[in-house]
Amino acid sequence: MGKIIAIANQKGGVGKTTTSINLASSLTHLGDNVLVVDIDPQGNATTGLGVNRGELKRSVYDILLEETNSEELIINTSFENLDLIPATMDLAGAEVQLVGVEKREYRLANQLRKLKDKYDYIIIDCPPSLGLLTINALTAADSVIITVQCEYYALEGLTQLLNTIRITQKYLNKNLGLEGVLLTMLDARTNLGIEVTKEVKMFFKEKVYSTIIPRNIHLAESPSHGKPIIEYAPTSKGAKVYLDLAKEVKSQNE
Ligand code: ADP
Ligand code: MG
Repeated sequence: MGKIIAIANQKGGVGKTTTSINLASSLTHLGDNVLVVDIDPQGNATTGLGVNRGELKRSVYDILLEETNSEELIINTSFENLDLIPATMDLAGAEVQLVGVEKREYRLANQLRKLKDKYDYIIIDCPPSLGLLTINALTAADSVIITVQCEYYALEGLTQLLNTIRITQKYLNKNLGLEGVLLTMLDARTNLGIEVTKEVKMFFKEKVYSTIIPRNIHLAESPSHGKPIIEYAPTSKGAKVYLDLAKEVKSQNE
């Protein structure tokens, strides 16, 4: 049985998509079969994996609002053992359209359950909000990875996120766990980065991954080439740290 991990934080620009793409692809390099599910209307995980959104007719939207079978939406990326259920622009309306749908929180869960046997890991890239799209991800997931950017106000908003996780556990998905907390975009030259790291560790304790993602130019460049870092710049620091993260995630799931 595969494990479904949602990558979440309602703040934008904190490394969710970068982590979704690169954790997923690093896991494939360690021998796993992985599916990325893009539920952010911005579709950055979709384009970051080299898929042209303009050519797509269907997307995760069809899981959420139509009765489309999830198997029909899977795209094989050009990277081995790495599949994608993409996001298209119409997903932007889904949050509002879902409100009137019966069992709206379970739409994604019901469809992804069918795919659990096919993959070792299913990684859901969440949008920067705590609306119904993220709720669908948390309801479908076995666990959450929270990405925290090593910047001012890093902890701001985390109370809301943790509350949302708690409410989801209570009413929608009692098996949801906290997989881990990932510090991202650390600039080790600044005291600020070190301070934030300390603060987050004080708050989340052993849940914080020992792998910390530094700021790395190759990580910022690789999405525009439609490639995960390990394919774009395999010898870069960015590729190394995401491989380390994948090893850490795997070791906790053995
Ligand atoms: P989110 O999905 O949370 O909005 P992203 O993963 O898209 O965040 O990251 C926001 C921006 O920062 C993107 O342009 C991305 O390429 C860049 N970025 C993410 N992680 C790093 C990193 N470790 N080093 C440098 N740039 C990064
Ligand atoms: Mg994103």
